[in-house]
Amino acid sequence: MTLDQEVDLSKTYDAVIVGSGAAGGMAAHVLTSKGMKVLLLEAGKKLNIEQELRSMEWPYDNANRGFLPPDSHSLSFNEYTIRRPAYGPGFEKAKHLYSYISSTDYTKNIVVDERENPYTGTNYAWVRARCLGGKTNIWGRLALRLSDYDFKAKDRDGYGENWPISYSDIAPYYDKVDLYLGITGVKENLDYLPDSIFQRPTKLNCAEVTLKQGLQKMGRVLTQYRAGVTSDGLKHNKYRSRCYGRGACERKGGCDIHAAFDSPTGLIYPAMDTGNLTLRPNSTVREVTVDPGTGKASGVHFIDSQTMRDYHVKAKVVILAASTLESARLLLLSKSRQHPNGLANSSNHVGHNFCEHVMGPGIAGRAKDLVGKSPTLDDGRPGGFYLTRFRNLKEKHPKFIRGYGFEGGSGSTMFPRGTDVHGFGASFKEEVRKNQGSFIGMGGFGEVLSRYENYVDLDPVVKDKWGISALRFHYKFGDNERRMAEDMKETAKEMFEAAGFEILHVNDRVLTEGWSIHELGTARMGTDPKTSVLNQFEQSHDVKNLFVVDGSAFVNASCQNPTWTIMALCWRSCEYLADEMQKGNL
Ligand SMILES: Cc1cc2nc3c(=O)[nH]c(=O)nc-3n(C[C@H](O)[C@H](O)[C@H](O)COP(=O)(O)OP(=O)(O)OC[C@H]3O[C@@H](n4cnc5c(N)ncnc54)[C@H](O)[C@@H]3O)c2cc1C
Ligand code: SF4
Repeated sequence: MTLDQEVDLSKTYDAVIVGSGAAGGMAAHVLTSKGMKVLLLEAGKKLNIEQELRSMEWPYDNANRGFLPPDSHSLSFNEYTIRRPAYGPGFEKAKHLYSYISSTDYTKNIVVDERENPYTGTNYAWVRARCLGGKTNIWGRLALRLSDYDFKAKDRDGYGENWPISYSDIAPYYDKVDLYLGITGVKENLDYLPDSIFQRPTKLNCAEVTLKQGLQKMGRVLTQYRAGVTSDGLKHNKYRSRCYGRGACERKGGCDIHAAFDSPTGLIYPAMDTGNLTLRPNSTVREVTVDPGTGKASGVHFIDSQTMRDYHVKAKVVILAASTLESARLLLLSKSRQHPNGLANSSNHVGHNFCEHVMGPGIAGRAKDLVGKSPTLDDGRPGGFYLTRFRNLKEKHPKFIRGYGFEGGSGSTMFPRGTDVHGFGASFKEEVRKNQGSFIGMGGFGEVLSRYENYVDLDPVVKDKWGISALRFHYKFGDNERRMAEDMKETAKEMFEAAGFEILHVNDRVLTEGWSIHELGTARMGTDPKTSVLNQFEQSHDVKNLFVVDGSAFVNASCQNPTWTIMALCWRSCEYLADEMQKGNL
């Protein structure tokens, strides 16, 4: 297997895929397995990811104790919300500026340098990873399914649009993703959060079980973190190990033995082994080209990210998988005589209906009966717990529609929690030792409603390092999100009280838009070409050989993390694409 292969510019590929994250990797896997000759273009580098993550490195072996070098800075909440733009004046001393997620030495080459990749408009904490595998190299691994509570949400509360698919359409593809990539968890038989085909689950620890039992009395469900991690191993994949429970994914942001799913080892390298995939990193696509005669997509223009040379490559089908906001940007950039408004945009919906998850409210507490107990190995697992949605299922909440869940964890960790207690010297150490295993915390993730008036467009002036127009945000949370966030705070408190925990801190601050890193909806699916961009197979209504297979296609955000759904939808769409191609319909 060789990387950085030469692209044959004289050839017409069966398909060109833009972006190598969860969506692009899945498209490459499905299409190459159908025998199609595929070109995958990725804007970022192929990193030596094991070298970047150094999962088992101790802080004292790192020059900066694991933090960023002194000439680099990662943006804080206040810097996103007060300074505009976040990377503007005031940061001259920082040679490199990174999003809030990258405050460590381990992820600095995975995420983008904000100055090279500017954006404008309303506050937004936009986290981007430009390298082979994109954000999957550092994702949080929580892998959840959506249900008809999400796909048919409009039927329940009258808001927005239903998806053009039901759970039964996507369920077989969730199964395929589970089996191909591996997922851990425990069956709960919930109709609003369907089970996956789970491998061996992780264990809940003492305080988590106490919370689970407290919640049972309230009819609420806490379950093991459903992690996109293989705990039993995958016989069909030689690039990934099973999980050894080192907890490094939590500490370092990724897994250097690839037990946690990432797109390169999970999807792209196996696709290359078929002999049907050409991969070119350092290739920033700037436009999808169209045939002036037919108006169909004919290929893409891309810039070598390092040499700045410009190329054009031809393909029978173009598949955008550059992530929700980047794919919308590409559609808007691809203006032509036939598509003056941007490609696939006759509806004027490209960039609109942009949605995600609201974060911030949460709670920290202490299980008093665990104070002073011997430490246990609790962080040797790829995640803690997930407390499932309970609002607007059977009853209607009077103040808001849709729902939220909580992610959390407890127990002894390699680097003790609770070091923010006051004191110093021997008594301080004693205090930390005594208490560290008793901490428990959780934070909410709630659905942000999809609204036409939340959108992105192209900035008329600002361009990125490659001379490509930057995105401009017009995006704000609304009253439904604020009321939901208020409720998250109240219920978090009520649940910790029910579990008998001592409450240490209740957080009611709503984090900046974008914080969840779950941006969705900018080219939504639908049955009506006037109000949607894609059909149920993520195929453009306007340009039948153009597919957008990332989170852009979502009709609403639900409150479940999106990556497993992105991949299941993409698998379904690519099977359809391959069939249509064989029938000569594209
Ligand atoms: C810290 C963190 C925690 C997360 N936790 C979770 C979680 O627990 N659960 C969950 O479901 N999701 C989580 N996510 C989100 C998850 O990573 C994304 O949903 C997923 O990666 C989306 O896949 P994608 O392919 O659409 O985009 P990406 O993974 O971002 O991949 C897009 C790729 O396209 C490339 N690209 C962009 N523009 C161009 C261009 N013009 N030309 C060529 N290539 C281009 C990029 O370089 C990138 O490699 C998390 C993300 C982060 C960063
Ligand atoms: S806990 Fe498992 S998934 Fe996480 S870093 Fe360790 S081996 Fe990888």
